[in-house]
Amino acid sequence: MIQSRGFCPRCGEKTDPDVGADRPTRERGLCRACYLEEQDLLETPELISIELCTGCGSYRVSGEWIDTSDGMPEIALKIVADRIGIHRAVDDFDWYAEPSMVDTTTVAVECEFDILVEGGYEHRTHSITVRFEPTTCTRCSRIAGKSYASTVQIRATERTPSEDELDRARSITAAILNERVDLGDRDAFLTDVIERPEGLDLRLSTTRLGSKVASAIHADLGGSLDTTSTLVTTDSDGQDVYRTTHAIRLPYVRVDDIITVEGDVYLVESVNRRVGARHLTTGERQYFDTTDIVDAIVAHRDDAEQATIVDVTDQHAVQVIDPTTYEAVTVARYKGVDVGGESVEAIHLGGTLYLLPSDE
Ligand SMILES: [Zn+2]
Ligand SMILES: [Zn+2]
Repeated sequence: MIQSRGFCPRCGEKTDPDVGADRPTRERGLCRACYLEEQDLLETPELISIELCTGCGSYRVSGEWIDTSDGMPEIALKIVADRIGIHRAVDDFDWYAEPSMVDTTTVAVECEFDILVEGGYEHRTHSITVRFEPTTCTRCSRIAGKSYASTVQIRATERTPSEDELDRARSITAAILNERVDLGDRDAFLTDVIERPEGLDLRLSTTRLGSKVASAIHADLGGSLDTTSTLVTTDSDGQDVYRTTHAIRLPYVRVDDIITVEGDVYLVESVNRRVGARHLTTGERQYFDTTDIVDAIVAHRDDAEQATIVDVTDQHAVQVIDPTTYEAVTVARYKGVDVGGESVEAIHLGGTLYLLPSDE
């Protein structure tokens, strides 16, 4: 059959020879109207079903759970935008979409498109229904099932951990969790916090998270850290599943303990892997291994009293009234001891009065 050039073989309209060169051969001679009539310029689904977690509000796209704080209309818009298929002939398009709730789990998205195709604009409207199916995501069901892979135990040597130490451990854990969540790690969560008479157990979702939390707490609070793992089960792929336990044992000494080492008296100012303590006569700071000072504690800062200042002798000495004996005594003074007031914090130990550095 011979095609008459310049006329549409379907409707006989005059055609522009410059238009349609990119079309498949058999559509090449058609006028614009006849050609576009046959084309689905946009491919849009009429109905999209999306799983939505009732626990955390996340939704599932191609198997992946996506966390969001968006509501259903906003999620529906995003999903619709991802699902629009474009015909190869379309050069560009503008679109406007209005989502509206139809019922508690259904959003209708009314879309209008201005499509640039073969040098002119076509207008199209599509109505897309997004139906949300309420369900529970894998993370929420693991949390509900109290699933955990690692336990961090916080204990202390010959004492119970203080509230301050436990608060510190909790806030370190929270910071690490927030960091993981910010990085989009959906598997990182704290399953349980169990308060025990001897300390605290933190149950964490993954062994990796457990190690991270344990080493961060250990680095901050000091003491010893022992890790053990036990085989708990074999998963569906025949892989062994281990659960790790990190036992942190905090040192006996704590900040503000007063210790004696080889006859010298110190105030403990920091406890990390090593103990930092201030010499209460010279003011020098010294470091000790926690194991070296197990029996060194003689008092606590709470035992100190206010000693009335009689006279500031010089930069190395001050005369005060000993609050235990009520006698005026001259005591060694060092940098950090505040003698600007009427009294100074002091502790009477073994017949000697020691001044404490100001507690800023
Ligand atoms: Zn035609
Ligand atoms: Zn969830």
